[in-house]
Amino acid sequence: MTQPAAATPTGSTPTVTVRVPAKVNVQLSVGGLRPDGFHGLANVFLAVGLYDSVSATRAAEPRLTVSGPDAALVPQDRTNLAARAAELLAERHGLAPDVHLHIAKDIPVAGGMAGGSADAAGALLACDRLWGLDTPREELLALCAELGSDVPFSFAGGAALGRGRGEVLTPLEVGGTFHWVFAVADGGLSTPDVYRECDRLREAAGTGSSDAEVPEPVASEALLDALRSGEAQSLATTLRNDLQPAALSLRPALAETLNTGLAAGALAALVSGSGPTCAFLVPDADSAARTAHTLTASATCRMARATSGPAPGATVV
Ligand code: ATP
Repeated sequence: MTQPAAATPTGSTPTVTVRVPAKVNVQLSVGGLRPDGFHGLANVFLAVGLYDSVSATRAAEPRLTVSGPDAALVPQDRTNLAARAAELLAERHGLAPDVHLHIAKDIPVAGGMAGGSADAAGALLACDRLWGLDTPREELLALCAELGSDVPFSFAGGAALGRGRGEVLTPLEVGGTFHWVFAVADGGLSTPDVYRECDRLREAAGTGSSDAEVPEPVASEALLDALRSGEAQSLATTLRNDLQPAALSLRPALAETLNTGLAAGALAALVSGSGPTCAFLVPDADSAARTAHTLTASATCRMARATSGPAPGATVV
Protein backbone atom coordinates (compact mmCIF):
# COMPACT_ATOMS: atom_id res chain seq x y z
CA MET A 1 0.00 0.00 0.00
CA THR A 2 1.15 3.55 -0.50
CA GLN A 3 -0.72 5.48 2.19
CA PRO A 4 0.59 5.99 5.72
CA ALA A 5 -1.36 4.29 8.47
CA ALA A 6 -2.80 6.46 11.21
CA ALA A 7 0.41 7.03 13.12
CA THR A 8 -0.88 7.39 16.66
CA PRO A 9 -4.33 5.75 16.95
CA THR A 10 -4.35 5.96 20.75
CA GLY A 11 -2.16 8.99 21.05
CA SER A 12 0.29 6.84 22.98
CA THR A 13 2.50 5.59 20.14
CA PRO A 14 5.14 8.18 19.33
CA THR A 15 6.32 8.76 15.80
CA VAL A 16 9.79 10.10 14.98
CA THR A 17 10.10 11.84 11.61
CA VAL A 18 13.46 12.59 10.01
CA ARG A 19 14.03 14.77 6.95
CA VAL A 20 16.90 13.77 4.63
CA PRO A 21 18.35 15.60 1.61
CA ALA A 22 19.21 14.54 -1.93
CA LYS A 23 22.76 15.06 -3.19
CA VAL A 24 24.55 16.14 -6.31
CA ASN A 25 28.15 15.13 -7.00
CA VAL A 26 29.96 18.31 -7.98
CA GLN A 27 33.00 16.13 -8.66
CA LEU A 28 32.76 12.42 -9.33
CA SER A 29 36.14 11.08 -10.38
CA VAL A 30 36.15 7.35 -10.94
CA GLY A 31 39.26 5.20 -10.56
CA GLY A 32 39.74 1.72 -12.00
CA LEU A 33 37.76 -1.38 -11.11
CA ARG A 34 39.23 -2.83 -7.90
CA PRO A 35 39.52 -6.56 -7.19
CA ASP A 36 36.66 -6.19 -4.64
CA GLY A 37 34.34 -5.06 -7.44
CA PHE A 38 34.20 -1.40 -6.35
CA HIS A 39 35.79 1.63 -8.01
CA GLY A 40 38.01 4.02 -6.09
CA LEU A 41 36.37 7.44 -6.09
CA ALA A 42 37.14 11.06 -5.43
CA ASN A 43 33.65 12.21 -4.77
CA VAL A 44 32.66 15.73 -3.79
CA PHE A 45 29.10 15.70 -2.51
CA LEU A 46 26.80 18.66 -2.04
CA ALA A 47 23.46 18.13 -0.28
CA VAL A 48 20.59 19.97 -1.95
CA GLY A 49 17.13 20.98 -0.81
CA LEU A 50 15.03 18.13 -2.19
CA TYR A 51 13.98 15.96 0.73
CA ASP A 52 12.45 12.64 1.66
CA SER A 53 10.85 12.28 5.08
CA VAL A 54 11.10 8.99 6.96
CA SER A 55 8.73 8.39 9.88
CA ALA A 56 9.17 5.56 12.38
CA THR A 57 6.32 4.34 14.59
CA ARG A 58 6.31 1.30 16.91
CA ALA A 59 4.38 -1.59 15.38
CA ALA A 60 3.59 -5.26 16.07
CA GLU A 61 5.76 -6.32 13.14
CA PRO A 62 8.01 -4.68 10.52
CA ARG A 63 6.03 -2.68 8.00
CA LEU A 64 6.97 -0.19 5.28
CA THR A 65 4.82 2.20 3.29
CA VAL A 66 5.69 4.86 0.73
CA SER A 67 3.79 7.91 -0.51
CA GLY A 68 4.54 10.42 -3.26
CA PRO A 69 4.22 10.47 -7.05
CA ASP A 70 6.98 7.86 -7.56
CA ALA A 71 5.90 5.55 -4.70
CA ALA A 72 5.16 2.69 -7.11
CA LEU A 73 8.84 2.63 -8.18
CA VAL A 74 10.09 2.05 -4.64
CA PRO A 75 10.32 -1.48 -3.19
CA GLN A 76 8.02 -1.86 -0.18
CA ASP A 77 9.58 -4.99 1.24
CA ARG A 78 12.76 -5.86 3.13
CA THR A 79 14.92 -4.91 0.13
CA ASN A 80 14.09 -1.25 0.74
CA LEU A 81 17.25 0.38 2.10
CA ALA A 82 15.25 2.02 4.90
CA ALA A 83 14.01 -1.40 6.08
CA ARG A 84 17.59 -2.72 5.94
CA ALA A 85 18.76 0.22 8.05
CA ALA A 86 16.13 -0.52 10.73
CA GLU A 87 17.09 -4.22 10.70
CA LEU A 88 20.79 -3.45 11.04
CA LEU A 89 20.29 -1.10 13.99
CA ALA A 90 17.89 -3.53 15.71
CA GLU A 91 20.29 -6.43 15.19
CA ARG A 92 23.20 -4.49 16.76
CA HIS A 93 21.10 -3.87 19.87
CA GLY A 94 19.42 -7.26 20.09
CA LEU A 95 16.01 -5.73 19.32
CA ALA A 96 13.23 -6.88 17.01
CA PRO A 97 12.87 -4.46 14.06
CA ASP A 98 9.15 -4.06 14.81
CA VAL A 99 8.62 -0.64 13.35
CA HIS A 100 6.35 0.94 10.80
CA LEU A 101 8.49 3.02 8.47
CA HIS A 102 6.75 5.49 6.24
CA ILE A 103 8.68 7.23 3.47
CA ALA A 104 7.24 10.43 2.02
CA LYS A 105 9.21 10.40 -1.22
CA ASP A 106 10.17 13.58 -3.05
CA ILE A 107 13.69 12.65 -4.23
CA PRO A 108 13.62 11.21 -7.78
CA VAL A 109 13.87 7.40 -7.73
CA ALA A 110 16.94 5.85 -9.42
CA GLY A 111 17.85 9.40 -10.44
CA GLY A 112 21.48 9.58 -9.32
CA MET A 113 20.48 11.72 -6.31
CA ALA A 114 20.93 9.00 -3.66
CA GLY A 115 17.25 8.77 -2.71
CA GLY A 116 17.55 5.23 -1.36
CA SER A 117 20.65 6.19 0.63
CA ALA A 118 18.78 9.20 2.05
CA ASP A 119 15.96 6.92 3.22
CA ALA A 120 18.45 4.54 4.85
CA ALA A 121 20.09 7.42 6.73
CA GLY A 122 16.66 8.77 7.72
CA ALA A 123 15.41 5.38 8.93
CA LEU A 124 18.57 4.84 10.97
CA LEU A 125 18.20 8.14 12.83
CA ALA A 126 14.40 7.81 13.22
CA CYS A 127 14.65 4.28 14.68
CA ASP A 128 17.57 5.26 16.90
CA ARG A 129 15.48 8.02 18.47
CA LEU A 130 12.25 5.96 18.55
CA TRP A 131 14.01 3.12 20.37
CA GLY A 132 15.76 5.56 22.74
CA LEU A 133 19.20 4.28 21.80
CA ASP A 134 20.93 7.64 21.35
CA THR A 135 23.78 5.99 19.46
CA PRO A 136 26.80 8.33 19.14
CA ARG A 137 27.05 10.07 15.76
CA GLU A 138 30.33 8.32 14.83
CA GLU A 139 28.69 4.90 15.39
CA LEU A 140 25.66 5.88 13.32
CA LEU A 141 28.01 6.99 10.52
CA ALA A 142 29.78 3.61 10.68
CA LEU A 143 26.41 1.83 10.35
CA CYS A 144 25.60 4.12 7.41
CA ALA A 145 28.81 2.98 5.68
CA GLU A 146 27.75 -0.67 6.11
CA LEU A 147 24.47 0.13 4.36
CA GLY A 148 25.98 1.77 1.28
CA SER A 149 28.68 4.08 -0.05
CA ASP A 150 26.45 7.18 -0.23
CA VAL A 151 24.58 6.66 3.06
CA PRO A 152 27.13 8.41 5.35
CA PHE A 153 26.90 11.57 3.26
CA SER A 154 23.08 11.51 3.23
CA PHE A 155 23.30 11.37 7.03
CA ALA A 156 25.89 14.16 7.29
CA GLY A 157 24.63 16.58 4.62
CA GLY A 158 26.37 19.89 3.85
CA ALA A 159 29.33 19.27 1.56
CA ALA A 160 32.00 16.61 1.89
CA LEU A 161 34.81 14.84 0.11
CA GLY A 162 34.19 11.10 -0.04
CA ARG A 163 37.16 8.77 -0.54
CA GLY A 164 37.35 4.99 -0.71
CA ARG A 165 34.01 3.83 -2.16
CA GLY A 166 32.80 7.34 -1.27
CA GLU A 167 32.04 6.48 2.34
CA VAL A 168 35.15 7.94 4.04
CA LEU A 169 34.03 11.54 4.51
CA THR A 170 35.84 14.80 5.11
CA PRO A 171 33.46 17.73 5.64
CA LEU A 172 34.10 20.71 3.33
CA GLU A 173 33.69 24.41 3.86
CA VAL A 174 31.19 26.13 1.55
CA GLY A 175 31.27 29.93 1.29
CA GLY A 176 27.75 30.56 0.06
CA THR A 177 24.53 29.15 -1.37
CA PHE A 178 24.60 27.56 -4.82
CA HIS A 179 21.41 27.53 -6.89
CA TRP A 180 20.52 24.46 -8.92
CA VAL A 181 17.88 23.08 -11.24
CA PHE A 182 17.37 19.32 -11.53
CA ALA A 183 15.76 17.89 -14.63
CA VAL A 184 14.13 14.58 -13.74
CA ALA A 185 14.01 12.01 -16.54
CA ASP A 186 11.34 9.47 -17.30
CA GLY A 187 12.62 6.19 -15.88
CA GLY A 188 15.82 5.62 -13.92
CA LEU A 189 19.29 4.26 -14.65
CA SER A 190 20.81 1.44 -12.65
CA THR A 191 23.98 2.62 -10.91
CA PRO A 192 25.82 -0.74 -11.44
CA ASP A 193 24.89 -0.61 -15.16
CA VAL A 194 26.39 2.88 -15.45
CA TYR A 195 29.65 1.82 -13.78
CA ARG A 196 29.82 -1.24 -16.10
CA GLU A 197 29.31 1.06 -19.10
CA CYS A 198 32.06 3.36 -17.81
CA ASP A 199 34.44 0.35 -17.70
CA ARG A 200 33.31 -0.77 -21.16
CA LEU A 201 33.93 2.68 -22.66
CA ARG A 202 37.39 2.82 -21.08
CA GLU A 203 38.25 -0.62 -22.50
CA ALA A 204 36.94 0.44 -25.93
CA ALA A 205 39.05 3.62 -25.79
CA GLY A 206 42.13 1.48 -25.06
CA THR A 207 42.88 3.12 -21.72
CA GLY A 208 42.02 0.01 -19.68
CA SER A 209 39.55 -0.09 -16.81
CA SER A 210 41.38 -1.81 -13.97
CA ASP A 211 42.74 -0.32 -10.80
CA ALA A 212 46.28 -0.72 -12.13
CA GLU A 213 45.52 1.09 -15.40
CA VAL A 214 43.38 4.08 -14.36
CA PRO A 215 45.11 6.87 -12.40
CA GLU A 216 44.01 7.19 -8.79
CA PRO A 217 41.27 9.83 -8.60
CA VAL A 218 42.03 12.96 -6.59
CA ALA A 219 39.88 15.86 -5.47
CA SER A 220 40.30 18.97 -7.60
CA GLU A 221 41.87 21.82 -5.63
CA ALA A 222 40.22 24.32 -8.01
CA LEU A 223 36.82 22.83 -7.23
CA LEU A 224 37.42 22.86 -3.46
CA ASP A 225 38.51 26.52 -3.76
CA ALA A 226 35.35 27.29 -5.74
CA LEU A 227 33.18 25.73 -3.03
CA ARG A 228 35.01 27.74 -0.36
CA SER A 229 34.55 30.95 -2.36
CA GLY A 230 30.81 30.41 -2.73
CA GLU A 231 31.08 31.76 -6.30
CA ALA A 232 28.86 29.92 -8.76
CA GLN A 233 30.89 31.12 -11.76
CA SER A 234 34.05 29.47 -10.35
CA LEU A 235 32.23 26.26 -9.44
CA ALA A 236 30.73 26.11 -12.94
CA THR A 237 34.16 25.80 -14.55
CA THR A 238 35.29 23.00 -12.23
CA LEU A 239 32.29 20.59 -12.15
CA ARG A 240 33.22 17.09 -13.28
CA ASN A 241 31.46 13.74 -13.55
CA ASP A 242 33.40 10.76 -14.96
CA LEU A 243 30.15 8.78 -15.18
CA GLN A 244 28.59 11.28 -17.58
CA PRO A 245 29.87 9.64 -20.81
CA ALA A 246 28.50 6.30 -19.61
CA ALA A 247 25.11 7.77 -18.67
CA LEU A 248 24.95 9.52 -22.07
CA SER A 249 25.93 6.32 -23.84
CA LEU A 250 23.06 4.45 -22.15
CA ARG A 251 20.62 7.36 -22.50
CA PRO A 252 21.69 9.53 -25.50
CA ALA A 253 18.61 11.76 -25.16
CA LEU A 254 20.16 13.30 -22.04
CA ALA A 255 22.44 15.38 -24.30
CA GLU A 256 19.37 17.30 -25.44
CA THR A 257 18.31 17.92 -21.83
CA LEU A 258 21.79 19.24 -20.97
CA ASN A 259 21.80 21.52 -24.03
CA THR A 260 18.31 22.84 -23.27
CA GLY A 261 19.36 23.92 -19.76
CA LEU A 262 22.54 25.56 -21.06
CA ALA A 263 20.58 27.41 -23.74
CA ALA A 264 18.21 28.61 -20.99
CA GLY A 265 21.14 30.32 -19.26
CA ALA A 266 22.60 27.73 -16.88
CA LEU A 267 26.27 28.36 -16.01
CA ALA A 268 27.02 24.64 -16.27
CA ALA A 269 25.22 21.37 -16.83
CA LEU A 270 26.12 17.84 -15.82
CA VAL A 271 24.57 14.48 -15.24
CA SER A 272 23.90 14.01 -11.51
CA GLY A 273 25.87 11.00 -10.23
CA SER A 274 24.95 7.94 -12.29
CA GLY A 275 22.01 9.85 -13.82
CA PRO A 276 19.65 10.16 -15.50
CA THR A 277 18.77 13.32 -13.54
CA CYS A 278 20.58 16.32 -15.06
CA ALA A 279 21.89 19.08 -12.80
CA PHE A 280 22.20 22.74 -13.82
CA LEU A 281 24.16 25.30 -11.82
CA VAL A 282 22.54 28.74 -12.17
CA PRO A 283 23.53 32.19 -10.85
CA ASP A 284 20.59 32.86 -8.50
CA ALA A 285 17.10 31.84 -7.38
CA ASP A 286 15.35 33.83 -10.15
CA SER A 287 17.31 32.14 -12.92
CA ALA A 288 16.68 28.79 -11.22
CA ALA A 289 12.92 29.37 -11.46
CA ARG A 290 13.22 30.50 -15.12
CA THR A 291 15.48 27.60 -16.14
CA ALA A 292 13.20 25.08 -14.39
CA HIS A 293 10.23 26.52 -16.26
CA THR A 294 12.02 26.33 -19.63
CA LEU A 295 13.16 22.75 -19.03
CA THR A 296 9.71 21.61 -17.91
CA ALA A 297 8.15 23.17 -21.01
CA SER A 298 10.81 21.67 -23.31
CA ALA A 299 9.64 18.05 -23.10
CA THR A 300 13.29 16.96 -22.75
CA CYS A 301 12.57 15.84 -19.18
CA ARG A 302 9.63 14.71 -17.04
CA MET A 303 9.86 17.76 -14.77
CA ALA A 304 12.41 20.20 -13.45
CA ARG A 305 12.91 21.35 -9.87
CA ALA A 306 14.65 24.50 -8.62
CA THR A 307 16.52 24.29 -5.33
CA SER A 308 19.80 25.19 -3.62
CA GLY A 309 22.61 23.74 -1.54
CA PRO A 310 24.29 23.05 0.79
CA ALA A 311 21.38 21.55 2.72
CA PRO A 312 21.53 20.04 6.21
CA GLY A 313 21.81 16.27 6.66
CA ALA A 314 19.38 13.94 8.42
CA THR A 315 17.36 16.04 10.88
CA VAL A 316 14.62 15.05 13.32
CA VAL A 317 11.62 17.30 12.60
P1 ATP B 1 22.64 6.70 -6.22
O1 ATP B 1 22.62 8.13 -6.61
O2 ATP B 1 23.01 6.47 -4.77
O3 ATP B 1 23.38 5.81 -7.13
P2 ATP B 1 19.96 6.63 -7.16
O4 ATP B 1 19.48 7.94 -6.61
O5 ATP B 1 20.33 6.57 -8.58
O6 ATP B 1 21.14 6.13 -6.25
P3 ATP B 1 17.84 5.32 -5.76
O7 ATP B 1 16.71 6.28 -5.81
O8 ATP B 1 18.59 5.24 -4.47
O9 ATP B 1 18.87 5.57 -6.94
O10 ATP B 1 17.26 3.89 -6.20
C1 ATP B 1 18.06 2.88 -6.76
C2 ATP B 1 17.28 1.57 -6.64
O11 ATP B 1 17.31 1.20 -5.25
C3 ATP B 1 15.81 1.70 -6.99
O12 ATP B 1 15.59 1.35 -8.31
C4 ATP B 1 15.14 0.75 -6.03
O13 ATP B 1 14.90 -0.51 -6.64
C5 ATP B 1 16.12 0.53 -4.89
N1 ATP B 1 15.68 1.07 -3.58
C6 ATP B 1 15.80 0.45 -2.41
N2 ATP B 1 15.36 1.22 -1.40
C7 ATP B 1 14.95 2.37 -1.95
C8 ATP B 1 14.39 3.56 -1.41
N3 ATP B 1 14.16 3.72 -0.09
N4 ATP B 1 14.10 4.56 -2.25
C9 ATP B 1 14.35 4.41 -3.57
N5 ATP B 1 14.84 3.30 -4.14
C10 ATP B 1 15.16 2.28 -3.33
